[in-house]
Amino acid sequence: MTALLQPVLNPINALTQPNNVPLEPLLGKSMEALRALVTALDEPAFRAQQLHQWIYVHCVRDFEQMTNLKKTFRDKLTERYQVGSLTVAEKQVSQDGTTKYLFRLPDGQVVESVLMYFEERGTYAVCLSTQVGCAVNCDFCATGKLGFKRNLSVSEIVEQYVYVQADSGKEVRNIVYMGQGEPMLNYDNLIEATHILNQSAEVGMRHITISTSGIVPRIYDLAAADLQLTLAVSLHAPDNATREAIMPINRKWRLEELMPALHHYVSTTNKRLTIEYILLAGVNDQPSHAHDLGKLLQGLKCNVNLIPYNPIGDSYGYKRPSGNAIHRFKDIVSTYGKKVTLRVERGVDIAAACGQLANQVQVR
Ligand code: SF4
Repeated sequence: MTALLQPVLNPINALTQPNNVPLEPLLGKSMEALRALVTALDEPAFRAQQLHQWIYVHCVRDFEQMTNLKKTFRDKLTERYQVGSLTVAEKQVSQDGTTKYLFRLPDGQVVESVLMYFEERGTYAVCLSTQVGCAVNCDFCATGKLGFKRNLSVSEIVEQYVYVQADSGKEVRNIVYMGQGEPMLNYDNLIEATHILNQSAEVGMRHITISTSGIVPRIYDLAAADLQLTLAVSLHAPDNATREAIMPINRKWRLEELMPALHHYVSTTNKRLTIEYILLAGVNDQPSHAHDLGKLLQGLKCNVNLIPYNPIGDSYGYKRPSGNAIHRFKDIVSTYGKKVTLRVERGVDIAAACGQLANQVQVR
């Protein structure tokens, strides 16, 4: 059963200066940017370090609570800036402890973030959104049905993490970009936010995963950036015909282009990829698909993560394979020398699992 908690925390999003210019959010700014900011406000440089600590380490949102900043500086900040621009429209806690946050953005749009606990490792991870809606339109995905609305700013991406970390009171040391949107279609903001999360919020690069549907040019860009993060690729089918039927993006970048990009990524970064494969009954879960997948991935340094489909609403006509079909698929792919895992589902009862994020509060 879903537990609905916490109503709107702060209904006012678009806070403005007296001249109606929106207050600029500080979250998402680097230490260098904060130094430039305090200098522009005629304050000594060490104030930037204090401000940085308050917003990223203590996660304080109210300038008045930043007690080691002098009053005149707090007043200057209050006139022009806000710590963050997101408000929580709704928070749901699943039976398994997974927590879904619905954030309202300054323009009234909403996105979701999900906090997950991994018992076996004793760690927390947060799944972040990078866009409002998504243009990629995978046929099985609730977010794809929303269409694309806009990219999230660096600040809006970073603030999701900082908010969840502070609200949960947990040490959230893992980030996965698997929420709403195709992260690689908001590439510049994604990379800048990732650097801020690494350097200011101190999340290790090795604890950050970017998930993509296969935006080939950006895979080459990410390889050149050589960050020590994990790249997860939603393959979902081992041949063009099956993939195209469920992922229209395959018409733009077919497997003949995607696979060389993945090999290039691995040879450039020496990082092991994660191949995501959603299992849809009767669509891509047959033994022949498993054999084709094993062959396609031969020579590629990767693990395979199988995701049995999570039904939502009318399920868009898709069904979850039987337990037997799931294990048969896993066993076959394993014979090709790949480590194959089954994703442990989190938050299915609150629609927080893979492919289920679709701002359900909007349509109630
Ligand atoms: S699965 Fe990912 S890329 Fe595909 S439509 Fe959904 S959010 Fe977009």
